[in-house]
Amino acid sequence: MPLYEYECITCRQSVEDSLRKLREKANSETASTLVEKYENIYFIEVADLNKKRVLAKHGKRDKNGIDLDFYIDERTKRVVFNIRNYRFAELIFDKEDENNLKCPRCGAKQVERVISSFAYTHDLSTNMPKPDLSNLPPEVRAKTFIGDYIEEKDRPKKNR
Ligand SMILES: [Zn+2]
Repeated sequence: MPLYEYECITCRQSVEDSLRKLREKANSETASTLVEKYENIYFIEVADLNKKRVLAKHGKRDKNGIDLDFYIDERTKRVVFNIRNYRFAELIFDKEDENNLKCPRCGAKQVERVISSFAYTHDLSTNMPKPDLSNLPPEVRAKTFIGDYIEEKDRPKKNR
């Protein structure tokens, strides 16, 4: 009966799409368009780290929102989003439960299990801990796959 962490793909896509638009044009007009367009994005700020100035800023942080930050243009710009969290945790009793999941914020059924920072493994001899990818940008994380295969040399010894 593990506790798994999920992300809503629909909610997450609005952040990914916004990041793409801000890469093309990081100004306040883009930021305001995105804040108006996506109800789960409350606030956007883009700062030029070399010139130490704010390039774009729109919206108002929500007290229940969370901040996500990304670095773009070879880390010369920092984008901060204040968003409604699209990550949630569910206790899964059987396979069926996972098929019936939906995002508790927007109700979308497209959710994806993510590698959790607080999931537990109840049998350490078979479940090796996996690295936490939650700080990676979504577009990198989407391409990062960590499988369950454990190399022979890393497998725990059953009998000493
Ligand atoms: Zn959602």
